[in-house]
Amino acid sequence: MHFVRSQAWRWPVEITGMMKPLSVAAACLFVLAAQAQESKEPVEVLRQRLAERLSTKGESAVAAAAKPAPKAARPAKGEAGKPAHWGYAGDIGPDRWAELAPENRLCAVGTRQSPIDIRDGIAVELEQIAFDYRASSFSVLDNGHTVQVNVAPGNGITVMGRRFELLQFHFHRPSEERVNGRQFDMVAHLVHRDEQGRLAVVAVLLERGRDDKPHPLVQTVWANLPLEKGEALPAQVQIDLNQLLPAERGYYTYMGSLTTPPCSEGVLWMVMRQPVALAAQQIGIFARLYPMNARPLQPGSGRLIKESLGTP
Ligand SMILES: [Zn+2]
Repeated sequence: MHFVRSQAWRWPVEITGMMKPLSVAAACLFVLAAQAQESKEPVEVLRQRLAERLSTKGESAVAAAAKPAPKAARPAKGEAGKPAHWGYAGDIGPDRWAELAPENRLCAVGTRQSPIDIRDGIAVELEQIAFDYRASSFSVLDNGHTVQVNVAPGNGITVMGRRFELLQFHFHRPSEERVNGRQFDMVAHLVHRDEQGRLAVVAVLLERGRDDKPHPLVQTVWANLPLEKGEALPAQVQIDLNQLLPAERGYYTYMGSLTTPPCSEGVLWMVMRQPVALAAQQIGIFARLYPMNARPLQPGSGRLIKESLGTP
């Protein structure tokens, strides 16, 4: 699957990582690959189960997204045949996630969960996030929970002296995070990981702007949407993630979690303060696929929030 040629080297590392406890338990959000709910082919079913299995082990889900399961792979022992389906409403909605699988316990009892309403941060001279993004190949995946874009290696950020590689980005509607109570039309989550397996997510808030000015990067991603769920479609063009960043680089930062099962904690969140504009039609396209894929707000629980000095 495509992206994936490039990320293939990570596969053995991730398998190894599965054996470790929480150090690598921070999976990215929405990286469940092969989540097609209507899969009929056995291979697809196997792949889905493996992906779900991996997803419960946290970061290894990244690998599941990055590389399809080998055809010979089987679900790991124990929970075969019990795929942990989850969603945003009803019996599999956010308030039930913890009940769906033991690995999801933190979804209910964690005290550093995401998303949160970002408010009462302390204004300090936050270091700039050093973005190192470049024109890159990509593939687009509808994983059953969101539209996810897998980006070829070579993109990353440096913050707090650590380099985090960009793995993928994906979207939520409406925005999961709020800022002083305000929710935005959408948000893009750019998921990065450092060599130790720690995750850093850059959130870019998206709001409706001028209808005659569609966002070029989003336009390219939508144009490359695959027709089928669970199958990453390699694009024939490149994208440059610099295009998705706001002009102003101030941000909010706090420690949180994945916003999807298994809700692993220890995720460094950086929410860009200035929103980026999309055309209403672009929001509408995503809304047809995922009208609501945002986890509800979680308690701040006294966590420290820092924000860049200066006006938004
Ligand atoms: Zn997300």
